Amino acid sequence: MEAVGWAARDTSGVLSPFDFSRRATGEKDVTLKVLYCGICHSDLHLLKNDWGDSIYPLVPGHEIVGVVTEIGSKVEKFKVGDKVGVGPVVGSCGHCNNCVHDEENYCPNVIFSYNYKYYDGTITYGGYSNIMVTNEHFVLRIPDKLPLDATAPLLCAGISVYSPMKYHGLDKPGMHVGVVGLGGLGHLAVKFAKAMGLHVTIISTSADKEKDAFEHFGADSFLNSNNQDEMEAAAKTLDGLIDTLPVSHALLPLINLLTTRGKHVVVGIPTKPLELPVSPIIHGRNLLAGSCVGGLKETQEMLDFAAEHNITADIEIIPIDYVNTALKRLEEIDVRYRFVIDVGNTLKSTS
Ligand SMILES: [Zn+2]
Ligand SMILES: [Zn+2]
Repeated sequence: MEAVGWAARDTSGVLSPFDFSRRATGEKDVTLKVLYCGICHSDLHLLKNDWGDSIYPLVPGHEIVGVVTEIGSKVEKFKVGDKVGVGPVVGSCGHCNNCVHDEENYCPNVIFSYNYKYYDGTITYGGYSNIMVTNEHFVLRIPDKLPLDATAPLLCAGISVYSPMKYHGLDKPGMHVGVVGLGGLGHLAVKFAKAMGLHVTIISTSADKEKDAFEHFGADSFLNSNNQDEMEAAAKTLDGLIDTLPVSHALLPLINLLTTRGKHVVVGIPTKPLELPVSPIIHGRNLLAGSCVGGLKETQEMLDFAAEHNITADIEIIPIDYVNTALKRLEEIDVRYRFVIDVGNTLKSTS
């Protein structure tokens, strides 16, 4: 079926209108009209081929919410009119050890929602577009209580921080957890951590975010990572770190914040490898871990938890024709805290 989106044609990463086609609704497929799509920092990396594997034309977007317009004959979980979401994962093998344990996101044959080859050989296109056709297994139900626009970023940014907190046991009330970087992922990490009853320290290079940290997000403490005295005074106080920085940064000052057995989970993807200080990790019996979004079951659990605790992203809604400016501002860290494209009202067909 005919679709329209905004695509980058080359490594300039500049987006412009793009007509393309999507597969017809298959028997297990859900077709949705896209209403909102969040702008993730990964979109920026992939648009500019920072990771070396971009395929052009590239239609980004994996924080997608919308409403079901058509379902295949064998779809069981959804009906026309349902409010649904699609995150970064749209396909997996279904039978490997990861898939059978609801960790489709770690399947060796995982298919991401854009810049990936689908089973039929076509390249996947993301949510900066008017419609999505997705196998129902990879479609999430958006709880009625949640507003669609501010919920879109939960589908990547939200699950990216929720999953490691659950998996690494950094979710027990009273634990001390640090959130590194107060951006799209970081601000949601703080909200989830507070809802879980944790003592939350925000660690940021932007001293101007301190006010927001306390007054708006209810953080329990704030560390300016450029202030060595502050960082040293907080040494060995944190049970865990959720490190959301998508740019190169020193690990040592952060690892020094961990208690014995403390865990440092990296969820942002810098373009260059980070330097690993082995000795302090050994002497602290620390764990350095990575985590990449979440499986479908856990993502649904995260959405339900968000509904129960009134967690949504702080967003700036933009029309699609502002997207290139928004990406530039995202690069300059000039957004509080996530851009969401109003796809439903502003993306018009070019023909
Ligand atoms: Zn993302
Ligand atoms: Zn699999």
